[in-house]
Amino acid sequence: MPSKRFRLDRFISKKTGVNPRAVKLMLAQGRITVDSAPALNSDQIINGFSHVLLDGRVLQANTAVHLMLHKPVGVVSATRDARHKTVLDLLARADRDSFHIAGRLDLNSSGLLLLTNDGEWSRKLTSPDNKISKVYRVRLKNPINEEYIHAFAQGMYFPYEGITTRPAVLTIISEYMAEVSLTEGRYHQIKRMFGRFRNPVLELHRTAIGRLQLDATLAPGESRELTNAEAVCWYEK
Ligand code: URA
Repeated sequence: MPSKRFRLDRFISKKTGVNPRAVKLMLAQGRITVDSAPALNSDQIINGFSHVLLDGRVLQANTAVHLMLHKPVGVVSATRDARHKTVLDLLARADRDSFHIAGRLDLNSSGLLLLTNDGEWSRKLTSPDNKISKVYRVRLKNPINEEYIHAFAQGMYFPYEGITTRPAVLTIISEYMAEVSLTEGRYHQIKRMFGRFRNPVLELHRTAIGRLQLDATLAPGESRELTNAEAVCWYEK
């Protein structure tokens, strides 16, 4: 998860074994570039995705990658599991072990799942303070009615955690189908909320996270890299 921040001079000293005074001189001589620009200040802060060159030689060149995956039912949102296939097993890339999950889905849920090697990105995305919306299409066993709309909007008390859920938007699509938008992700939250009505969830499919919609061309199990514009769109209001 190379998203830690550190001082440039300490990074160079550690990488090259050169003492801090000599590093200062290298900087003054313009021998070091960070993201294609000459770096002159020893206290410049870089992160694990800064491209750093010394005399044109690469000292660090990691690239942040963000993926959207169409998670199928029956695949576990984990990087390792003794019993089930994991979402990492679905990625046909040599660097797949560098990825972690940004916001899990239950084993029997499907839809939009984000994976990345960028810890800072996933922290922002999943931080409760950022209140990023997640949209789910839900199929229920029993018919739903207007009462659900009010109950979801009001919030429900979860005694186990001792919290009341944030206001959620429920839209009735048909007698047995709803769309639910949440800005948090409590354990089995949607199933537990419908559980208050003794109404089992038969299918749960995430269609969007913030402004990012699941790409309709991705079949279950398929994934693709996000574009730069997509990688930032989830936090735009
Ligand atoms: N709520 C659930 O109950 N399950 C999920 O996978 C996501 C939200």
